[in-house]
Amino acid sequence: MSQREPISAERWLLRLAELGRRQGLAIGALLDGGRGDLDLLLASAALHLPVDEGLTEREASGRLRGFLEGAGAMLATDHAELRRWLVDLGFVSRSDRGDDYRRAPLPDWLQDAARQLDVERVTAAVQAARQQDAAERRRRKEAWLARAGRSEGAEANESLPSTAARGSSTDEDATYMALAIDQAHNGWAVGEVPVGAILVCGGQVLATGFNQPIGSHDPTAHAEVQAVRAAAALLGNYRLSGCTLYVTLEPCAMCAGAIQHARIERLVFGAPDPKTGACGSVVDLFAEAKLNHHTRVRGGVLADRCGQLLSDFFAERRALRRGGLLPADAEGDDAGEA
Ligand SMILES: [Zn+2]
Repeated sequence: MSQREPISAERWLLRLAELGRRQGLAIGALLDGGRGDLDLLLASAALHLPVDEGLTEREASGRLRGFLEGAGAMLATDHAELRRWLVDLGFVSRSDRGDDYRRAPLPDWLQDAARQLDVERVTAAVQAARQQDAAERRRRKEAWLARAGRSEGAEANESLPSTAARGSSTDEDATYMALAIDQAHNGWAVGEVPVGAILVCGGQVLATGFNQPIGSHDPTAHAEVQAVRAAAALLGNYRLSGCTLYVTLEPCAMCAGAIQHARIERLVFGAPDPKTGACGSVVDLFAEAKLNHHTRVRGGVLADRCGQLLSDFFAERRALRRGGLLPADAEGDDAGEA
């Protein structure tokens, strides 16, 4: 921007709005970078002081604070330093006694435009630019969230058309599902098919469980049942109303029944189970209004991680069996055990 050619009021406001989108501008750095922007900013500040009426230092400081809270918020300075710059560079005059501050004649190239501008116009121009930026940031964020929601929904809907769309979509679900995945690892560590579950109530993890039918000689010891039993014992109540159960694999019919008997409010599961899944893969017991009066279902949360864990487990078992380290008919060869 040339400081010789006169500027229009519109160009002034446009440039001020551009500068208004920035933060932490130091007057000293602007001084080194050429006077155009600095003159424009100091002139905008000087507009806050009258031409034909002297202000006390206190009054002048008050006006400059107003500028720094409004149009001048991009400047990294305080009213005292700004006042000194304005006086030193000739934008504001001060009487020898230091009690008569008023706007001095502005640089030639700004004078015509300055006559058309006032505090309201410069403040409005910068605020409009900032609001536009904020709206643009909001729009980008919402677009991003919508995209993230769609891809998550698409992942879930692929295999689970009937139930995946039910339930709310929150990042919280992914956080809790990650804890359920930790539980699944516990199952793997003791040689069980890695399926994990946690029960959450009021933002608190009440109970955890992992699949352990083999070790406990209990065909009902699925991860969901383990967690439901522990939570009910803890609460001293066979109803778990208001609770959410997170499990890494789509529940089977037995677990779906237990979840419904416990009056669990929400079920969130990870990977679909095409062999025994009772939330839409084989049957959908939660879509049956005569059975289910309480439980909302959301599937597909961290589905890839939950499914990969099972794939890795079975790949390891096949390798062990090939190496003669497991009997050919070893238990736990079937993801449907959970
Ligand atoms: Zn089950």
